Amino acid sequence: MAKTAIITGSSRGIGAAIALRLAKDGMNIAFNDLNMTMFENNDIVDRVKALGVEAEVFCADVSKYAECEAMVKAVKERFGTIDVLVNNAGITRDGLMARMPEEQYDMVIAVNQKSVFNMTKFVGNIMMRQRSGHIINLASVAGLYGNPGQINYSASKAAIIGMTKTVAKELGSRNVTCNAVAPGFIHTPMTDKLTEEQKAAMLAQIAMKRYGEPEEIAGVVSFLASEDSSYVTGQVIEISGGISM
Ligand code: NAP
Repeated sequence: MAKTAIITGSSRGIGAAIALRLAKDGMNIAFNDLNMTMFENNDIVDRVKALGVEAEVFCADVSKYAECEAMVKAVKERFGTIDVLVNNAGITRDGLMARMPEEQYDMVIAVNQKSVFNMTKFVGNIMMRQRSGHIINLASVAGLYGNPGQINYSASKAAIIGMTKTVAKELGSRNVTCNAVAPGFIHTPMTDKLTEEQKAAMLAQIAMKRYGEPEEIAGVVSFLASEDSSYVTGQVIEISGGISM
């Protein structure tokens, strides 16, 4: 039976590239985003189906516990199994700490961090029962090294690293792995909105002197979702073209 992967926030950007790659690997794809409008503006679902796998969209706000519970139940009913969870959905609401309103902090924590608890709890329970599964979390170099103007975002991504290691320890004996990738600066709608000055400052720090592409994240996620990484768990793989060594 084909494996099934659920990828949160997968209508575009890194999530869409991961969906395409895991479909190329032969997995059925459960797409997720906030609403259907996100998928009406692109052909990602059709491109995945053209690879000969099954795909369906499940709308939910992953910061909401009850919506995640209902979505995971619906995916399990539709596909019979969930073998791979990619916690990809994420937002930025940047600003210096001194001027950041409380709501701006709380929103990023809810979408980026609480969502990982919500999704991992419900999918993890399924994986524990089936004694197999791979969970991959999208962290960030901001969570490893900090970044001015991103106290909310870097907090959420650092938390994801702690959560990754905890889940690896809690689920390891049930043959479920949990790892994180920490991208640097990747070409997506999230980074397109940075100023030219911010982009130049990032580029100066990158050993390879170029930004990354979503497919370069998807390749590593594919490895972590495959049996080639069956003895890798609790790890954080930086994918940044060498921002720090
Ligand atoms: P993106 O292009 O903004 O895509 C993120 C997707 O998540 C969007 O479709 C977004 O929908 C969706 N989303 C937002 N809130 C959601 C929610 N509550 N429930 C469900 N879906 C939601 O971002 P990306 O650049 O591909 O980033 C993907 C992941 O990689 C994120 O976790 C990000 O933090 C991480 N990352 C990215 C970079 C980079 O350089 N791009 C670097 C390090 C880490 P809306 O448009 O409606 O918000």
